[in-house]
Amino acid sequence: MKRLYAPKTASRGIVTGKVYVKQEVNLEPCGDKIPEELVQAEVNRFLKTKEEVKAELEVLAEKNEIFGAHLMMADDFTLEEGVVSKIRVEYLNAELALSQTVEEIAAIFDMMDDAYMKERAADVKDVGKRFMANLKGVQAGDFSDIQEPVILVARDLFPSDTARLNLEYIKGFITQEGGVTSHVSIMAKGIGLPALVGVEGILEAVDNGTLLCMDASTGEIFVEPDEETLAEYRTKQQEYESWQKMLEQVSQLPAETTDGRRVSICGNVGNVEDVQNAVNHHVDGIGLFRSEFLYMESSHFPTEEEQFEVYRKAAELCPEELTIRTLDIGGDKELPYYEFDEEENPFLGWRAIRISLDMKEMFKTQLRAILRASAFGTIRIMFPMIISVEELRGAKAVLEECKAELAAEGIDFDAGIQAGMMIETPASVLMAEELAEEADFFSIGTNDLTQYLLAVDRGNKRISGMYNSFHPAVLRAIAKVIRAGHAAGIKVGMCGEFASDAKASVLLLGMGLDEFSMSSGEASNIRYTIRNLSYARAQEKAGKVQTCRTIEEVMGILG
Ligand code: PEP
Ligand code: MG
Repeated sequence: MKRLYAPKTASRGIVTGKVYVKQEVNLEPCGDKIPEELVQAEVNRFLKTKEEVKAELEVLAEKNEIFGAHLMMADDFTLEEGVVSKIRVEYLNAELALSQTVEEIAAIFDMMDDAYMKERAADVKDVGKRFMANLKGVQAGDFSDIQEPVILVARDLFPSDTARLNLEYIKGFITQEGGVTSHVSIMAKGIGLPALVGVEGILEAVDNGTLLCMDASTGEIFVEPDEETLAEYRTKQQEYESWQKMLEQVSQLPAETTDGRRVSICGNVGNVEDVQNAVNHHVDGIGLFRSEFLYMESSHFPTEEEQFEVYRKAAELCPEELTIRTLDIGGDKELPYYEFDEEENPFLGWRAIRISLDMKEMFKTQLRAILRASAFGTIRIMFPMIISVEELRGAKAVLEECKAELAAEGIDFDAGIQAGMMIETPASVLMAEELAEEADFFSIGTNDLTQYLLAVDRGNKRISGMYNSFHPAVLRAIAKVIRAGHAAGIKVGMCGEFASDAKASVLLLGMGLDEFSMSSGEASNIRYTIRNLSYARAQEKAGKVQTCRTIEEVMGILG
């Protein structure tokens, strides 16, 4: 028996079964330089391939938004320009020109600090593979020979592979490369397929037919398990599956306590595909649409039209309120096409609403797009990182300007659109009473609020033990904000990670939180937790916690 570990879980679940190793098809570029007289024919061959690839992706994009992004990449001028110039200037054949251009574009993404953007390199390569397969006239493996339940093991999987997986037989997958924020991981989560990625040594450890236990919740993998381990994991798998079935049963029921207090369970999303995924998880709405991903995935500041299309699609899909947060860039999130000045303290620097208020035209482009989309569903606008009444007023003034422009142009929008704000800075907590009089709703961003209140960098591994939202200071801040919001008659939600912490839910519920917003995969768990709580009891616990002096005391009350 051999034991391997995955550094992080991509999509939870427990499976035991036989391995199927994905065969790699040869997509290496072949051939060499071409004579000058063949240059035009080679350019034409590439352009014809581009049309074929686009046609394939158009069909796939109708089913899955990720391929919409691939279509944009395939159609991007940078790719065509790179390939064509390499054919014309360096006399490379189309395959070589393609592979070099794809490597260059992927390297740009790969160099970025942001993990999410780094993963986009995999999407660029996936599009490159599709081009290459078409140029070489080879078929990428379609897994059609799999006729029994298996765990798929591969060097790497790409979104186009995931779309071909037959879920009747493929019960989980493990890849040697790739990261948890890759689109493959996101897709696995969306379809509830247990998945581990970035598992070093997995390809050397298994062959077709090797027996394997994978616990994608803890990241543990047992290759050729002994009898005892196998029996243990078979039981764990059964327990996990019955737990999932139970969660599935509550997934469509309201998040209502045993004594009748009802709250909303909403989704946190980054694109239209996530919205669909959240809808599949029966969320009550979207509590946080992180619009910055739209900016980060683009090669330029997205135009009003480009943004409108995305927000409109999201609004049409969302059954209830869709909360779009305006651009929250800066800090650890960069844009590939905009150079930020070097800052000593980026998290305390030029980020989020500060940038929007400084770059007014860009802000207006986004607000106009959101307003136009508000004619197609129920949208709320949310401003990030507010520290003062002046900032909130400033943002609302720009919103009013956009409304007036659209009205004058005769363009439809929801004139009563709600404009709320995130509570994620200590200043906004202290000013919560005043802000509540001018904001239409609050959403508490505990990820930032915890780091700013405790002065503990949320991304610094060395002090990660100090980053704890159960710190009494954070809990008191949350309670104060909820009280202030309710006193002014507005709803208070939470879209930081703390909202998906099952242990925290009793406190948040007891403090009166109205909306819990989280990654869709966590929704059923919190729904289930809340359905088993009594509001009266939760209020009691929340009250007790307010006088706690230490995290230990808090945890003692939670039991
Ligand atoms: C937060 O800070 O809690 C939050 C939801 O925003 P982000 O994680 O995008 O900074
Ligand atoms: Mg934040």
